[in-house]
This record gives sequence, structure tokens and C-alpha cells, in this order.
Amino acid sequence: MTQDCPVCGADITNNGLMMNELVPCPECGSDLEVIELTPLKLDKAPEEKEDWGE
Ligand SMILES: [Zn+2]
Repeated sequence: MTQDCPVCGADITNNGLMMNELVPCPECGSDLEVIELTPLKLDKAPEEKEDWGE
């Protein structure tokens, strides 16, 4: 199962991705977040500071 990168349109392969997992696009390097698993849906991760612990 693949999903298009919302930024550059490259195919991202679902290698056992998990909900809310961050996946770097192999083409454009954008951080993508898994927002839905079935069907797989990716969105651009917010480019904020790296304060994920909040
Ligand atoms: Zn991309």
C-alpha cells in the first residue's frame, strides 16, 4: 500500500506505519505524519519547534 506525499507527490510505502508516526519523505525530505491508517493518509507534520514532549 502506498500513499502520495502531500508535498511532492512521491509514493510513500507503508512499511508497518503506526498512527501519528512521523515519516520523512524519501523524495523531498518533508516530515509527514500518519493521520489515518485505513486508508493510509499522510499530512505534512507541523514545522514547529521540537517540543514533542508537551
Ligand atoms: Zn515528498
